[in-house]
Amino acid sequence: MHPVSQAESSGVLIHPLFLGMRGCPGRCVYCDQDKLSGSSGYDLEESVARVREFVRHHPEREKQVAFYGGTFTAWERDSREKLLRGVSEVCDARTSFRISTHPLYVSEEILAWCKNWNIRTIELGIQDFNPEVLALSGRGYSGQEALEAAYRVKKQGFELGIQLMPGLPGWSEASLEENRRILAELKPDLLRLYPLIVIRGTALEQLFNSGEYFPLSLEEAITQCADYYPVARRAGFRIIKLGIPSNIDPAEIAGGPWHPAFGELVKAELAARKVLAIDPQEQAVTLSRDEIRLLKAHGGAALQKVQDWFEQHS
Ligand code: SF4
Repeated sequence: MHPVSQAESSGVLIHPLFLGMRGCPGRCVYCDQDKLSGSSGYDLEESVARVREFVRHHPEREKQVAFYGGTFTAWERDSREKLLRGVSEVCDARTSFRISTHPLYVSEEILAWCKNWNIRTIELGIQDFNPEVLALSGRGYSGQEALEAAYRVKKQGFELGIQLMPGLPGWSEASLEENRRILAELKPDLLRLYPLIVIRGTALEQLFNSGEYFPLSLEEAITQCADYYPVARRAGFRIIKLGIPSNIDPAEIAGGPWHPAFGELVKAELAARKVLAIDPQEQAVTLSRDEIRLLKAHGGAALQKVQDWFEQHS
């Protein structure tokens, strides 16, 4: 499968390259990067050729080549430098790099290395800031370490992205509140929300089959993701991804809140909340054409919610 270039809401054009699990200190119980990216490998020459085309087609645009999957800064240095050197040779002055990595691999020394290699955006796969959730998920770091890593990246002037994973074992209303509070204080630039789904062949599937892991329902995942929007609005960061990449074959999903248009379901929930926030006797609300489309889309569950609410309140 060939990765496609995509425009982020900031207007920067992103060209993703998937690196599988290169550099990962272990295999997280829920992870299968090949299935998530829809790709089974990475080839340096092919990657460089794709980047060359990407850069050639968009000379006027601000661009980033994004290295996703794996733990970029824990990958052996020679390999990552070989990749960056190869890709840099075909980039123009409007192209920088974005990486996704693990919070334990962003020391001051590594961040200095990142600056030298034109890396402008660092996304940290933190998944949750709550210590109990992190321990139960075997992530190998504490909430405090995750937070310190995020502040270090920010302080060094990188664009900071945080990836969270609603639905990890041990989550609670208190842990959700803690995540929202920390994000409000941290003020990252970007947030991705990947509600946890159960991929076939992972250790999580065994826990799911034996009844030791209960995934979120689709509705719970939508609610939890929608709850981050008011925080993002107040703290001034962008939510750039909702749900796991849609490249996955649905047959590979054993359970959990997966939907091919998960992001639209969250946005429909936000449109419904806009209506539900008014006093129908006293106030009116204006919805955009897109919000109305979202309310009606995917079976119209959000519209039904609004209609039920009006019936109860009129
Ligand atoms: S660190 Fe990230 S890419 Fe690596 S196994 Fe864990 S979730 Fe997958």
